[in-house]
Amino acid sequence: MSNIYNQVQDLDSELTYVTKRNADLKARVALLENALRQCLREIDKNTCQHEDVCRAGTIWTICSQCGAKWDDGDGGFRPHDTPQWLYDAWDILGD
Ligand SMILES: [Zn+2]
Repeated sequence: MSNIYNQVQDLDSELTYVTKRNADLKARVALLENALRQCLREIDKNTCQHEDVCRAGTIWTICSQCGAKWDDGDGGFRPHDTPQWLYDAWDILGD
């Protein structure tokens, strides 16, 4: 059976551990946020929004910026669609 002094010691040890663990986790979250921010910048740099398209021949729509082609027989032009996970990532970063 532990006395009150031992219980306080145990709580102090636990508090020290939890405080250190909290600081470690905050540091890891900061690293992850930085990595995610860099990934999003790369995705943004390498993603064409297909905002400048033109017709070619009788069936093709072609993006003037990235060269993507859409066949009318296969549904035709499809505008860029930002996936939900990208919105979620931006929300997490608060950007
Ligand atoms: Zn494009």
